[in-house]
Amino acid sequence: MQQSADRGVVSASPPDTGPNSIARGLGVLGDEWCLQLLRAAHTGATRFGRFQELLPISAASLAARLALLADEGLLIRRVYQQNPIRAEYLLTPQGRGTWPILLAIWDWEDRWADHVRGELPVRRHTVCGASFHPELVCGTCGVATVRTDVRAAWGPTGGWSRSVPETATRRRTNASRSAGEFPETMAVFGNRWSAVVMGAVFQGISRYTDFESTLKIPSNILSERLRILLDYGLLRVDVAEQGRRDYHLTEKGQAFFPIIATTLSWAERWYALPEGPAMSWRHDDHALAPRLDCDQCHQPLQAAQIEILRPDDQNV
Ligand SMILES: [Zn+2]
Ligand SMILES: [Zn+2]
Repeated sequence: MQQSADRGVVSASPPDTGPNSIARGLGVLGDEWCLQLLRAAHTGATRFGRFQELLPISAASLAARLALLADEGLLIRRVYQQNPIRAEYLLTPQGRGTWPILLAIWDWEDRWADHVRGELPVRRHTVCGASFHPELVCGTCGVATVRTDVRAAWGPTGGWSRSVPETATRRRTNASRSAGEFPETMAVFGNRWSAVVMGAVFQGISRYTDFESTLKIPSNILSERLRILLDYGLLRVDVAEQGRRDYHLTEKGQAFFPIIATTLSWAERWYALPEGPAMSWRHDDHALAPRLDCDQCHQPLQAAQIEILRPDDQNV
């Protein structure tokens, strides 16, 4: 911040505080209805009535989410009929850019979530014809990448206080009505503090007292969020000497990394601030550019090459 002022770009700079790309991205995606609407939009739904057919959502909640997604630039509202006015909602490039996140979430839920494991439709890669899992790859060097291969560091707009979404919790007033297609992802994304606690774990924080002092999170909320992440099996706790409790990612928690990587990459693409990124990722000696490849043919995935096989198709 000091450097910006020295370079005389004060007038063009955003305030030093305020939500960064992580907070803004989670503010939109940390809402299960928004995720489900985006998924429906990716399958071709554009009209209010069609969204209502596909999702068990009230008219008021649907209208609020469509307005939010339009405000945030993921959908564009287009009037296709006057008198009475009828509008449809089309994905913008920013909205279309969420497909790797949705795919990563879907795949993680399918592999790890208790409620839906193995019950989601099969995804087929039309290039190789195989059913596949997306594999996180470093786009710079082309090597498959897991969390432990990557180092994360705050960028110029980083820091915990700027990365906490401001409104995710408030928007979830109706979320309990949803049976939920992404229940366990929402346990992380759908609560501003859970997302931040997971982010801290991915940055290597493990001690209760360090969460408390680093995140400036009230103790009762911290205990509750850690308990939920333990219940879902994303974290495990080791009781060390003198009863000290250390929290670590389980295999299931580690497997959440592609969702985080694709989300932060998308957020940085669309909510970038002129001062620089919120977080930078290094893989070996270069920047990590997260990409999803087909784990069968190892080609980079593209949205148009992914076919969803409904249960009916699979039985044929
Ligand atoms: Zn690399
Ligand atoms: Zn393939």
